[in-house]
Amino acid sequence: MELNSLYQEVILDHYKRPHHKGLSELKDIQVHHVNPSCGDEVTLNLSISGGIVSDISWDGVGCSISQASTSIMTDLVLGQTVAHAYKILDNFSELMASKGTMVGDEALLDDAVALAGVSKFPARVKCALLGWMAFKDASVQAIDGSEKA
Ligand code: ZN
Repeated sequence: MELNSLYQEVILDHYKRPHHKGLSELKDIQVHHVNPSCGDEVTLNLSISGGIVSDISWDGVGCSISQASTSIMTDLVLGQTVAHAYKILDNFSELMASKGTMVGDEALLDDAVALAGVSKFPARVKCALLGWMAFKDASVQAIDGSEKA
């Protein structure tokens, strides 16, 4: 897989020094997602209060794409409204479905644009989306839970 070298550096940096890794005690919900095709695993703890992603932390094992993408995702959504986090997630999902035809909106996606090249490799798209799908799942459950409470 060839990605441009600047982007490769961003990905390796998040892989080696992941952000918000190490599960926090603060959580409304915990989810565990796996990507069997690559062997990637992510456990995500999430708290949402007042419609804002107030805490997010994770732990995981797997390839550099899956782990870096999860690290980048946590940076992007922490402190944001859930609505804005979904906007970022939709934009990133669209980028990952683009088969290399999109470069990504850097204003919205920040470091996640480094993963744009992954969209050319369908087998790796699931790696890049793993943490994001875990966030989506956890946020839906957290919101459901708070409505019932
Ligand atoms: Zn992977």
